[in-house]
Amino acid sequence: MASPGSSHLHPALRPLPAASASVVPRQVDYLRLSVTDRCNERCLYCLPESYAAWTDKAELLSWDEFLTVVRAAVRRGFRHFRVTGGEPLIREGVVEFIGRLVATPGVETVQLTTNGTRLPQLAPALRKAGLERINISLDALDPEAYRHITRGEVAPVLEGIALCRQLGFPSIKLNTVLMRGKNEGEIDNLVAFAAANDVALRFIELMPVSLTEMLDESNFLPVGEVFRRLAERDELVPLEVGKPPGHGPAKYYRMKKTGLTLGFIGALTDLHFCDHCNKVRLTSDGKLRPCLGNHLEIDLRAALRSGAPEADIAAALDRLFLQTLADKPLEHLFRNNYQPSRVMTAIGG
Ligand code: SAM
Repeated sequence: MASPGSSHLHPALRPLPAASASVVPRQVDYLRLSVTDRCNERCLYCLPESYAAWTDKAELLSWDEFLTVVRAAVRRGFRHFRVTGGEPLIREGVVEFIGRLVATPGVETVQLTTNGTRLPQLAPALRKAGLERINISLDALDPEAYRHITRGEVAPVLEGIALCRQLGFPSIKLNTVLMRGKNEGEIDNLVAFAAANDVALRFIELMPVSLTEMLDESNFLPVGEVFRRLAERDELVPLEVGKPPGHGPAKYYRMKKTGLTLGFIGALTDLHFCDHCNKVRLTSDGKLRPCLGNHLEIDLRAALRSGAPEADIAAALDRLFLQTLADKPLEHLFRNNYQPSRVMTAIGG
């Protein structure tokens, strides 16, 4: 833990503690852009079925406003960008936006996180727009289990994955949120599916980041338990932290027999999880969130819509990014009785 009085300083600006290896300077260079809070699925852990408090369209940042923020982020050292939501592929104009993002000077990588349902229609245009990296959420392969978890259909998602492989996306990862009793029985099938399709698979611990009833301890399945189960039948060889296939806090392994790349995102059980956190989130209504497990938000939209000359807006955004980096907490509060105040889809996954 940081000592009192120093917790608001960005770790990169603080001297390293003399004899602690647990806090390392973090290079925060990754911005996740939530382009909409709307979604066409209703995952048990993310969005209550009756949810209707969508952000007014006028309050969402426009594509031009997102790009103004991206240019400010680049000036502050951000190099990696992810387009997410809500479901990003249901917002009109998203493909063109991704093309413009890819072409923005200083942007090194652009990634997309999607539930995959619209990939059968959009994957070719996304590839053409220059997108190379895509993460697809897949919590179950069995149609009934998938329907129960997401209220959606798995068939278009599987079609989308096959199409992305065919189109030669250089990086395809599947994301599975672990839920005891809900998709425990799907794990072996997901591992076999990912290996057969030569795509990486990441297991994510359930986080208290939304306002749904299922986010309680009884549904929590730690990544360590899944790791041990899989390690009983194949050796899991660790890959180097911070190197591809990931830049963030996921820990990666290669399964020796199948060659499958497996990632484990132990947001709650990995006590050093935040040591490698390199990201900041932008909500679809223009608030920067330096930490998913903390209520702190910094508003950019007021600056973007101030009516000031372009150069003044750019200077204001630069200051707000500096403030965000300085205020990025050293650790999330998930283990500290953290109570979410918004649904996950309004923050952006
Ligand atoms: N709609 C897109 C999708 O399904 O991937 C992007 C947004 S979604 C909020 C991004 C990621 O957040 C998904 O992989 C989802 O499974 C994960 N997620 C949402 N709520 C979560 C929770 N309570 N705990 C852990 N992961 C969660």
